[in-house]
Amino acid sequence: MFSSFMIKYAEIGVKGKNRYIFEDALVHQIKLGLKNCPGTFKVTKTQGRIFVDTEGEFDYDETIARLKRVFGVWGICPMVRLEDMDPDSLCEEAVKYFGAVYPDRNKTFKVNARRSRKSYSIDSMELNAKVGEALLKAYPELKVDVHNPEIALTVEVREQIFLYSEIIPGPGGLPIGTNGKAMLLLSGGIDSPVAGWMIAKRGVKIDAVYFHAPPYTSERAKQKVVDLAKYVSRYTGPINLHVINFTDIQLYIYEQCPHDELTIIMRRYMMRIAETIAKENECQGLITGESIGQVASQTTHSLLVTNDVCELPVFRPLIGFDKEDIVTISKKIDTYETSVLPYEDCCTIFVAKHPVTKPLLSAIKRHEESLSEKIDEMVKTALDTREIIEVMPD
Ligand code: ATP
Ligand code: MG
Repeated sequence: MFSSFMIKYAEIGVKGKNRYIFEDALVHQIKLGLKNCPGTFKVTKTQGRIFVDTEGEFDYDETIARLKRVFGVWGICPMVRLEDMDPDSLCEEAVKYFGAVYPDRNKTFKVNARRSRKSYSIDSMELNAKVGEALLKAYPELKVDVHNPEIALTVEVREQIFLYSEIIPGPGGLPIGTNGKAMLLLSGGIDSPVAGWMIAKRGVKIDAVYFHAPPYTSERAKQKVVDLAKYVSRYTGPINLHVINFTDIQLYIYEQCPHDELTIIMRRYMMRIAETIAKENECQGLITGESIGQVASQTTHSLLVTNDVCELPVFRPLIGFDKEDIVTISKKIDTYETSVLPYEDCCTIFVAKHPVTKPLLSAIKRHEESLSEKIDEMVKTALDTREIIEVMPD
């Protein structure tokens, strides 16, 4: 039945003079999103509307699934595109449409006619009445309900005539590329993929950094992070994943610093290294999956101490979320199953039994001084020997 889709976008409609920038970005992102989707697609923008038209065979479900991952898309309306025709022929088409789309017609409905082309022979009130009547005549089991109908059929008269009645919700947000770039600290856990997804949803392009500690963390743990990045990239587009070998730095901290401060000092080095990579890659911020109180390193005191090493803003979109809410999103974006695979994480391998929950910044800084002999060189080596994996969506 459907070979066209009208794309509805909400928030980007209110950007005033810059509106075209957002629309063009959305068109671009839709094209990218449909790149490997079976079928031939044409994405166009006309009179403040974006359309996706298909040519020949295409996979309907896969097309919808992909459009549902393009940020900036508020709704997807499967639509029938008709050449200009007189009201009687239009009624016949509306009857055909209903017959095909709604096998069960024990429903309430209304017709929502819009005549954008004022030269059309009858106005929208008359069109509502005429199409409504034709539908009732063809399907007597239908009932009209103008206030709260189960089906609202829109008949839009432009150069051509459009019929649509369904809105499939999109992800919302803003198109990728309309809001700069940020560097995600991506671990194998549940939180960080969700955090990256949330910031990307606001139009921010993302790259990622993963701290790997071989042989304490395995190849499978690394592969898990690559897999997570791949799921996230289905929404964000390609992600450059910087894999940092963190083992020597961790061992050195373990040797030199009080063990109950290990995690917090290690996290400060993670942030420093991530920030260096972020700046190299023209990012305006860092992203973490931290949430207040989740673990010892995420108390407000710990966050203060970790944050202290950063010049760039650190975006923590999950800061006020309960784990349950984070899990809900991770299931929605398909990262959950991978995140819960039980591979070791570099944060857990040297972890103290009783890590500090109220670290004192001055004390932490003092204890970090005992690293001064080798740490700069180690950080440099970690940066120089990093592996960069370009993670692409399927
Ligand atoms: P997650 O579920 O994202 O792993 P978490 O609850 O396990 O989070 P922590 O281990 O304290 O929490 O990590 C807090 C944040 O620090 C993570 O959300 C992530 O952004 C970053 N992070 C932690 N470990 C790593 C790592 N090995 N590589 C990159 N980033 C990391
Ligand atoms: Mg973790």
